[in-house]
Amino acid sequence: MAALTSFGKSGRVLLVDDSLIALDSIGSKLREHGVDVVTTPSPTQALALATEGEQPFDLIILDVLMPEMDGHELTRRLRAHSRSASTPILLLTTLDSTDDRVAGLVAGADDFFTKAAPDAEMLARVRSFISLGKMRAQLLAQHEAMARVMQEPESVALQARVVVIHHHPGEGERLVGELRGSGAASEWRISRCAPPPRLTALDADVLVVSYPVALEGEQPLLRRHGFDEGAPSIVVLDEAESTERRVASFDAGADDYLTQETPAAELAARLTSALRRQHRQQQLRSSRDRAMLAAVTDPLTGLYNRAYFYEAFGVELRRAQRYQHPMTLVLLDLDHFKQVNDTLGHTAGDEALREVSSRLRKTARSTDIVARYGGEEFAMILPETDLERGLIAAERFRVAVEGATVHGPKGGSRSLTLSQGVACYPLHSTSMSELVELADAALYAAKRTGRNRVCTASQGGEPLPPAPSGGAAFPVLERLRRLISDDSESPLASVRMAARMLHEAATSKDALHSFSTQLRESSEQVRREVQQAVEELVLLLENRR
Ligand code: GH3
Ligand code: MG
Ligand code: MG
Repeated sequence: MAALTSFGKSGRVLLVDDSLIALDSIGSKLREHGVDVVTTPSPTQALALATEGEQPFDLIILDVLMPEMDGHELTRRLRAHSRSASTPILLLTTLDSTDDRVAGLVAGADDFFTKAAPDAEMLARVRSFISLGKMRAQLLAQHEAMARVMQEPESVALQARVVVIHHHPGEGERLVGELRGSGAASEWRISRCAPPPRLTALDADVLVVSYPVALEGEQPLLRRHGFDEGAPSIVVLDEAESTERRVASFDAGADDYLTQETPAAELAARLTSALRRQHRQQQLRSSRDRAMLAAVTDPLTGLYNRAYFYEAFGVELRRAQRYQHPMTLVLLDLDHFKQVNDTLGHTAGDEALREVSSRLRKTARSTDIVARYGGEEFAMILPETDLERGLIAAERFRVAVEGATVHGPKGGSRSLTLSQGVACYPLHSTSMSELVELADAALYAAKRTGRNRVCTASQGGEPLPPAPSGGAAFPVLERLRRLISDDSESPLASVRMAARMLHEAATSKDALHSFSTQLRESSEQVRREVQQAVEELVLLLENRR
């Protein structure tokens, strides 16, 4: 699950509860933490919102006891609809009976928590499921693009492999016995493994891991594999319920947290639910991997090829349109690459292309699409990325490649740089071909004005001021200043955006960091103050240069 952390903490959540008091209290707690929450007391309306609403949800939280339709029934209906089939569902309940939990999981819920759960625990769980929801949506979109390029066979359900890893061998043995005895587990292969496990050698879909193995000792399992793409689901088993340890587990990437007292039937139902999630992800990943190996990759660099780039671009653009997300396209071209071939030879040129590709791939987020567009030209699609963030990313790519040097087989070397053109949906255009043309024109402007730089479609060919050495905060501040003073239509939205950018540019010890944290509830007064503060900062930095 490599991509999990990069999605950040905010997300869109649908909260359904017939109690208006509960809606208000849970809703406001989530909003305080930057979550975008839509609430409704009506299950029927919730169903309509989740299946026909304009924007998708990253997570759905449902009350269980509701007069019109209970949470289990609503879960079943949501699961039956393609729009909400894989959105994570958390059940919210005052009930604490095993039967009820099992029924919820069987209906297709991912997890549940009691209304009495402490805030920290609720937030940790909500965060972890929002990340899961976003990653699923992304994988589904990529899956859709792959499926077009290549017909893929239906996958067959695997026999589930469950491995128990307990620091206490006797306890592990008891658990294996208990699981084997529970009816739901007849399809599983259950085994035990001694800690510390080497995950690469483990053949498992789900791990049931005791808390000390998961999070304590020299090499805690969750710290190493909690967010690994391709790692099995990890279910933590604790001796007794502890909110602190529960939160730590979810924050480190656990799929679930249970205690030794959990009845066997519930344990089995929980594992089934973890397996279902894991299987779905594996399916998406393996089809993605299989297709990637075939028609869609460029053999020299291992990046996506041009054909796939256009498919993925179409899919991402439709997604951006449907859900009203921004999206950024970056075209990148190596500078004076012909000279590399001419002076060092073609083999060195090929090696340079591989090195640049690898640097771009490593610098991009795992959900960005990196393609070889032509000979020494690359194209990148950055989903859910607006111009401000797109420029920050492009600057990262520029720096990542600037450090590369290619050596000739008979001595001699050259250092590499690249020029980039950036175009954004919907800011610059809403059409695919126009976005490509605009990015291409911006790339040409970057070449014309000196290379090793980034130009955008909105600059009409004018390059960005070069980044000052040593101060990454400066270009951010400059853009910020423009953002606040130019945006008269939605000044508060831009202040919030500015606050987010400041927040990201500052280190956690900075005064800016805590300042920007306070800006969530921005008002006109705050806007003026931020504008002034930024103006002063820009002056200050200019004088210092
Ligand atoms: P500019 O900064 O204007 O982009 O200059 P440039 O030399 O990079 O651009 P030009 O388009 O003139 O030349 C691109 C060169 O890239 C031509 C070709 O030798 C080289 N090239 C393209 N594909 C490959 C490849 O697969 N392997 C190698 N070794 N070189 C390639
Ligand atoms: Mg070139
Ligand atoms: Mg070229």
